[in-house]
Amino acid sequence: MPEGVQKTGKKVAIIGGGPAGLSVAYQLTLKGHSCTIFDEHELLGGMMRYGIPGFRTPRAVLDTEIQRIIDLGVEVKLNVHIGKDITLDQIKKDYDAIFMGMGAQAGRPLPVPGADAPNVVTAMAFLRAFNDGRLQHVGKRVVVIGGGDTSIDVATVARRLGHIKTANPSERAEHIIAGQVAHDVAAVSAKDGAEVVLCSRSPVAQMNANKHEVDEALAEGIEIKGSITPVSVVVGADGRATALRVAELETVGGKQVVKEGTEYDIPADLIVSAIGQAVDFTGLDGFDNGKGLISADKHYQVPGQKGIFVGGDVLRPHLLTTAIGHGRIAAESIDHYLSGEDLGKRPKVDVAYFDVLRKEIEVGLAPEKYQSRSKDEVKKEEGFAKDIDLGVRGTDKDKFAVHNFEDRSEKYVIPSTELFLGHFPYTPRNKRNFVTLTAEQVLGHFEERLEALDSKTVVSEAKRCMSCGLCFECDNCVIYCPQTAVFKVKKAQSTTGRYVDTDYSRCIGCHICADVCPTGYIKMGMGD
Ligand SMILES: Cc1cc2nc3c(=O)[nH]c(=O)nc-3n(C[C@H](O)[C@H](O)[C@H](O)COP(=O)(O)OP(=O)(O)OC[C@H]3O[C@@H](n4cnc5c(N)ncnc54)[C@H](O)[C@@H]3O)c2cc1C
Repeated sequence: MPEGVQKTGKKVAIIGGGPAGLSVAYQLTLKGHSCTIFDEHELLGGMMRYGIPGFRTPRAVLDTEIQRIIDLGVEVKLNVHIGKDITLDQIKKDYDAIFMGMGAQAGRPLPVPGADAPNVVTAMAFLRAFNDGRLQHVGKRVVVIGGGDTSIDVATVARRLGHIKTANPSERAEHIIAGQVAHDVAAVSAKDGAEVVLCSRSPVAQMNANKHEVDEALAEGIEIKGSITPVSVVVGADGRATALRVAELETVGGKQVVKEGTEYDIPADLIVSAIGQAVDFTGLDGFDNGKGLISADKHYQVPGQKGIFVGGDVLRPHLLTTAIGHGRIAAESIDHYLSGEDLGKRPKVDVAYFDVLRKEIEVGLAPEKYQSRSKDEVKKEEGFAKDIDLGVRGTDKDKFAVHNFEDRSEKYVIPSTELFLGHFPYTPRNKRNFVTLTAEQVLGHFEERLEALDSKTVVSEAKRCMSCGLCFECDNCVIYCPQTAVFKVKKAQSTTGRYVDTDYSRCIGCHICADVCPTGYIKMGMGD
């Protein structure tokens, strides 16, 4: 448990140690709850380790980031599948709340005849075998079906692995992918590049995959065929696939239909289906919403399953950042649930914001406790009586209120029209260099292609931040206020978010402070 955090005594079970589960563990540990992550793998990370290749999420960085979370005091139980090794009922008995972040581990098989041939595999199984280090080479001709980022990952991995002319049948990729056996790394001799063809139903320019990744794949020698659909898998006498039969698609009345008489075969030693993912519900009956995923309410609680929360790919396969964000929101809901509170309303748009009150408490500058005063007391202190509840209006002198702070980032992003752009000379972005590989260079290249910035450049990149919506202590409001109403908070009272204050008995509402504020931080209002 981090220093200064009070233990609540509540226990939370987190099923799945991918980005969603790790995010929940991080957030809840900071709130004082004891978290245990259960994962069926031998290491944490989920798809960041067993799906996305290391040349995109470098493992050294991943390991360090995961360790930072574990070091907060998170308990980890690996090689445990909830539903097989431990029942969900047992988890319900042992823990106060549950987070299900199992991701979408199952790949969708090709829905065409012949797809049950042994050398037709899913992208999930292919990438798992590669990331485990078992798969060291693929066949000579690999055909990938997809069009999203996963299909690009499969194709680029296949190009990097290459093939071995002398490989014997027992070393075929499908045996390695299907079983737990591994290629013998020491025995891997000279490799040749594999011929990789990626087939997409969309035209190449409209593929779901990131355009940049598509361009890189083309540069690496991957052939991409757009506007085609798989029709069947051509199976040889030995039961193995020898080709993928495809047909061209055309758009008729806004719909894609097969163009008659355009069928042809693409020869293949390995066919990989990268057409989607689904949740593995083994031992977790009753959660499938009929679409291979789990449904949740706006608090990320499973409807009808009080105390069970979800997030990440189980809701909808998407991105790492989405899963991490879901984890943060679910953790908030779990925290309310464990405190016996109403789960409350959720904002339309979830944003992170700076909490000045929390900051003031943290640095020992917490506002004073509010004391209500009687009319007589107020009359004595201020020379006149007010009819309204005292201390609620006209609090600029009171120390129980936080003055001069309105956290605009809680509500919306400040648009550039509200910034005083004259203060921000154009500074070009410090872009990271991307290494583009040619078809000749790609074989055996497993290094990260996006090069890191050095620490000096990282700092100068961070300095380009305009702090929109926040005060960066430029003093303009203090300098330009004609009434000297705006003043710097005394050093002993000042902290982040408490830099300037206003003497409202001098303020005439002239707006000059707001006009000269570079970041759009000052907003005029009636002080309610
Ligand atoms: C090939 C590929 C490439 C991708 N590339 C990108 C990318 O470039 N950028 C990006 O932002 N996103 C990318 N994504 C998406 C991203 O990886 C996912 O959105 C994200 O990992 C989802 O996180 P999660 O925690 O929900 O699930 P996962 O990362 O899948 O983690 C779930 C974990 O739960 C474990 N688990 C499942 N069931 C159980 C059980 N019953 N008991 C115990 N443990 C269990 C799993 O083994 C796994 O370790 C990619 C995905 C894939 C498949």
